[in-house]
Amino acid sequence: MTDTPEKADTPEEAGHAEEAWAGPGTRASEAGDGTRAVRAGLPEPVKYEPSLPGPVFAAHFHLPGDPTGPYTYARDENPTWTHLERAIGELEAPEQDVETLVFASGMAAISAVLFSQLRAGDAVVLPSDGYQVLPLVREQLTAYGIEVRTAPTGGDAQLDVLDGARLLWIETPSNPGLDVCDVRRLVEAAHARGTLVAVDNTLATPLGQRPLELGADFAVASGTKQLTGHGDILLGYVACRDAELAASVRRWRKIVGAILGPMEAWLAHRAIATLQLRADRQNANALAVAEALRGREEVTGLRYPGLPDDPSHKIASQQMRRFGCVVSFTLPTRARADRFLEALRLVDDATSFGGVRSTAERRGRWGGDAVPEGFIRFSAGAEDTDDLVSDVLRALDASAD
Ligand SMILES: *Cc1c(COP(=O)(O)O)cnc(C)c1O
Repeated sequence: MTDTPEKADTPEEAGHAEEAWAGPGTRASEAGDGTRAVRAGLPEPVKYEPSLPGPVFAAHFHLPGDPTGPYTYARDENPTWTHLERAIGELEAPEQDVETLVFASGMAAISAVLFSQLRAGDAVVLPSDGYQVLPLVREQLTAYGIEVRTAPTGGDAQLDVLDGARLLWIETPSNPGLDVCDVRRLVEAAHARGTLVAVDNTLATPLGQRPLELGADFAVASGTKQLTGHGDILLGYVACRDAELAASVRRWRKIVGAILGPMEAWLAHRAIATLQLRADRQNANALAVAEALRGREEVTGLRYPGLPDDPSHKIASQQMRRFGCVVSFTLPTRARADRFLEALRLVDDATSFGGVRSTAERRGRWGGDAVPEGFIRFSAGAEDTDDLVSDVLRALDASAD
């Protein structure tokens, strides 16, 4: 907690005294998500300077004398990252002191945690139904002499293979199956065994779920998806409470050099200001699409954690504050799924998710996930709800046999 004096009343704050944001640099945990998002990571106001300082392009900084920080060489630190890291930390854990490290991509962040924490002879538990690059990661870990165990996300099945593991990797909701596990329960079991816990928070975003508050040691995510939300940058981050764990991840970033460019860091920070607006619209659209699909007989396996009768809903409502913008479902055949995607006008056939423009894809085209040929992963954008739902229903009709 920084001790910042209460900011003088400004016109924006007048009339909102009770829940007023206490000023940049503080953790106004009582502020609403929208307030927190627009102010996240902003430095103390400086006369004639912009509220969000522009990107700092530098490989090195003036450094007379002893090389003490904070800014020496830009593979280690950059002021534009610092602002972004504070912003993400404030969202991931408004009431805790956390250290956040940004990376060039979600995979860079994931690899940084796995490869900085695990040594030959260690065991790690991964989800068997997680992000599609995890099987490649598994191969690499195995090649380094690390034992990799996997179990599905649903039913907290990872509990059964925890004994003796150094690290438990959770992805909830899982991508693309949208199963949810009970993070508190898994953390408790893991910590009782001396096992560290990392949660991939990509799909939920920190406004949807706060893994560190649920007890996890690491919140890790791809900011490429809904966090930045425009489908134009790659970003990853790791947030953790423990200074030693943070230092080991920081060391890994320095060794591997998988760092974010200052322009990307600045764009990401700018985008986070609208996270609550985007997430609320997109997630409402996802729910509306899911509800519309529920009435269609050609749709099976419909999943959205926000649907009250979804198998994930009960646990999701206990640990999530928003249910995300991804809906998954299956059409009867591959041909039908392809025709559906082709017929959509407001939804791009593209991979990834979380952007302001809706996207969908037939997931089976990649060959990595264990999904039926007609399985569609649908990411709701920020279009008007009626327009989006009409487009989906029209494309379903148009793709009928
Ligand atoms: C996209 C994604 C990643 C990887 O992120 P990149 O930014 O593409 O490297 C990791 N985990 C999940 C759940 C993802 O959806």
